Amino acid sequence: MNSRTELTADVVVVGAGPAGLSTARHLTRAGHDVVVLEARDRVGGRTWTEEVDGVTLEIGGQWISPDQTELLGLLDELGMGTYSRYREGESVYIAPDGTRTRYRGETFPVADATAKEIVRLTELMDDLVTSIGAKEPWAHPRARELDTTSFHHWLRQQSDDEEACTTIALFIAGAMLTKPAHAFSTLQAVLMAASAGSFSNLTDECFILDRRVVGGMQGVSERLAAELGDRVHLSTPVRTIRHSDEGVVVESDRVTVRAQRVVVAVPPPLFSRISYDPPLPRRQHQMHQHLSMGLVIKVHATYPTPFWREDGLSGTCFGTSTLVQEVYDNTFHGDERGTLVAFVADEKADAVFALDAQERKARILASIAQFLGDRALEPDAYYESDWGSEEWTRGAYAASFDLGGLARYGADQRTPVGRIHWACSDLAAEGYQHVDGALRSGRDAAADVDAALREADPT
Ligand SMILES: Cc1cc2nc3c(=O)[nH]c(=O)nc-3n(C[C@H](O)[C@H](O)[C@H](O)COP(=O)(O)OP(=O)(O)OC[C@H]3O[C@@H](n4cnc5c(N)ncnc54)[C@H](O)[C@@H]3O)c2cc1C
Repeated sequence: MNSRTELTADVVVVGAGPAGLSTARHLTRAGHDVVVLEARDRVGGRTWTEEVDGVTLEIGGQWISPDQTELLGLLDELGMGTYSRYREGESVYIAPDGTRTRYRGETFPVADATAKEIVRLTELMDDLVTSIGAKEPWAHPRARELDTTSFHHWLRQQSDDEEACTTIALFIAGAMLTKPAHAFSTLQAVLMAASAGSFSNLTDECFILDRRVVGGMQGVSERLAAELGDRVHLSTPVRTIRHSDEGVVVESDRVTVRAQRVVVAVPPPLFSRISYDPPLPRRQHQMHQHLSMGLVIKVHATYPTPFWREDGLSGTCFGTSTLVQEVYDNTFHGDERGTLVAFVADEKADAVFALDAQERKARILASIAQFLGDRALEPDAYYESDWGSEEWTRGAYAASFDLGGLARYGADQRTPVGRIHWACSDLAAEGYQHVDGALRSGRDAAADVDAALREADPT
């Protein structure tokens, strides 16, 4: 029997991730009636705090940096505490020739000439960030030039020090956009850095991976959803949006909502999984094909104790040529055990996903052991976050434009189509690809919708 529910509202929000829930919260506070339709059986989207084999894990987004004031302000408002990432002791660096070195501070222990090149390239990036900014990178006079040059090639135009180039690339490619540096542009790299305030901030893990949420990041979305109560409908994937001058009809598997406006708050590569009637304009059809998700495996390994700390190590490790390129102490607040998080990005993720699960696990743990010793080989619990297999996400961490796409389409990425608005961390300026950016984009979309509704009905 068809148990379809028919609802009316002022606004429908598609997606109950941080962007959608932020949109709904702002609109509700402005006095509008909002319904949120979420495909999954939970809220939070790419934030997901879950107990796996007796360990609480942040399967998705977790870290907060000091400039992420939208998120920090919301945490304060919701009465949610934060805690610092463990960072006492020495870090470990593995050089391209396999040499393992313990070090302190932010600078990798590389040859003096390479260290100078890393500083020089960092300054070049910081200068570009200052000149271009995060708000409208496409409007800069050098936008097209920088957007048609891959970050890989731009770095080699600036320097012939290969280790310096791969190190600088790591901070944007493997660590942020999770695409190979030949697959995205220098302008896209500048946007990523500008969204965090500077390129220097991105290279400073004490800044970019500063704090975590007590209880887990998904709790933010859960609290926002609790405020909205029964206006949030789970397990209701939206399939069709019918739109006209009269309003919108949003059809999901279980619920149909008639409203004045709709905010689509899903990752941009999923925009085209929804049918639009009438179809979206040519420009949106084209633009959405130039946005794609990166790919990274977030690996969690839990041990009886944080054994690396006994050895004077922080758990922070980097290698540009290793399978695992970054490792951090990721012990959950209040847990006596020790949890490491490790990342395998882009083409390296492709390679290990081609292996069977046991072989993949063995290779990843062996890579972590290169940094932290053989005790890393036998965790009590092991889990791989595989967002590429999630139907309602399809990659990690987020979406970015292909070569040339940002300069060509960026100015239109948030432009509403009639009564259809867009919100997502992957369309944000500050906080781009982060929870903070999701909240900001939700806030901004809500302001646009509120203004449109007030214009239509000033009473
Ligand atoms: C492994 C990983 C690690 C990360 N680490 C960090 C970090 O440390 N710090 C940080 O700030 N950020 C991090 N991020 C990024 C952060 O999680 C995202 O930027 C943020 O969750 C984006 O929020 P959003 O609401 O824009 O999109 P999402 O969180 O993707 O939410 C979109 C929602 O829309 C739903 N949806 C999709 N299609 C439909 C449909 N047709 N109908 C209804 N609903 C639909 C989805 O199910 C989802 O719930 C990480 C992400 C991943 C995957």
